[in-house]
Amino acid sequence: MKIKEIGEFGLIERIHAKAGRSSYPVVIGIGDDASVLDVGPGNQVVTTTDMLVEGVHFLRDAIDPFDLGFKSHAVNLSDIAAMGAAPVQSFLSFGLPGDMDVEIIDRFMDGFMEAGEGVPLSGGDTVSSPEGWLISVTVIGLAPAGRVLRRDAAVPGETIWLCGPVGDSAAGLSILLDKSGKVNDQDARFLIKRHNRPLAQVRMGRILLEAGISNCAIDVSDGLLQDLGHICERSKLGAELQLENIPLSGPINELAAANNVDPYNWALSGGEDYSLLFTVNPENEKKLLTVLEREEIQAVPIGKTVAGKGIVVLKDGSPMEIESDGGYDHFRISPPENPSVKS
Ligand code: ADP
Ligand code: MG
Repeated sequence: MKIKEIGEFGLIERIHAKAGRSSYPVVIGIGDDASVLDVGPGNQVVTTTDMLVEGVHFLRDAIDPFDLGFKSHAVNLSDIAAMGAAPVQSFLSFGLPGDMDVEIIDRFMDGFMEAGEGVPLSGGDTVSSPEGWLISVTVIGLAPAGRVLRRDAAVPGETIWLCGPVGDSAAGLSILLDKSGKVNDQDARFLIKRHNRPLAQVRMGRILLEAGISNCAIDVSDGLLQDLGHICERSKLGAELQLENIPLSGPINELAAANNVDPYNWALSGGEDYSLLFTVNPENEKKLLTVLEREEIQAVPIGKTVAGKGIVVLKDGSPMEIESDGGYDHFRISPPENPSVKS
């Protein structure tokens, strides 16, 4: 069987089946945004790693190396944020073609360190690559003992909240790929920046955990429906989203209107926004609203968790059909089943 026949997630399941049970105190292994290790009283260690490959994640000539450095750190910090942990250390490994200009790496490093907002780079590895640039980043975080935000911790009847944009990154990418049609310069710059320099919602994640507001979060890396789908699957429940509550930026609305497309396609299925999706028990909503106001963080309720299975998107109260490719899978060749429930 070929990898592309089972797709990225099918392959990860196969790897998972061989991963074995550890006798070490691994609280969370494969299957969440990061793994969690119990290291005794006080803190847990939270670890995530992500890789970027030239030609798959970026085109060397099309992205500013500063942005690439920024993004490769931000996507990892976003997984730490999704656990509610505080990032404390990063590691950076490169596979590099020898004929690359060193100034490219200088700029990459400036972007990488800017995204980290003070998180120290503590190690890595550098090797030659016969073809193309490979970047692997690992970030270690700390969380208080016994508590993290988990994908499998949602329960029916909670409100689903979103902190950060959805769709902007995919819209930015469509501009970069020249697939978007008409767009004005200012909107294009805004959306491309959202694609190239996504902001990890580290502060929101930490607050949710520290203030005991939420138990469950995921970062939106592969698309809102797909990542909410991971929460539903792992927590064994369903979800209802209110389409009109999903926030759209001014530029994405402008771009969609100018080209007569539905901006919600980007918002529901576009990847790489690195927003934070989390669930909150109605009892904790007052606490959440107080914290959002005090910390000046924007987050909005977009739906609720329900008993059962699957995601229903409601438009003006009625279930709608979604035109969706379901989000990103590295190996998939055929479109997946429609992830939404049809009316
Ligand atoms: P994210 O989008 O949050 O980075 P992924 O979808 O990439 O998460 O991965 C899902 C889960 O599978 C994560 O827990 C990740 O650590 C794990 N995983 C992915 N690839 C591998 C691998 N080659 N070996 C072990 N675990 C893996
Ligand atoms: Mg993630």
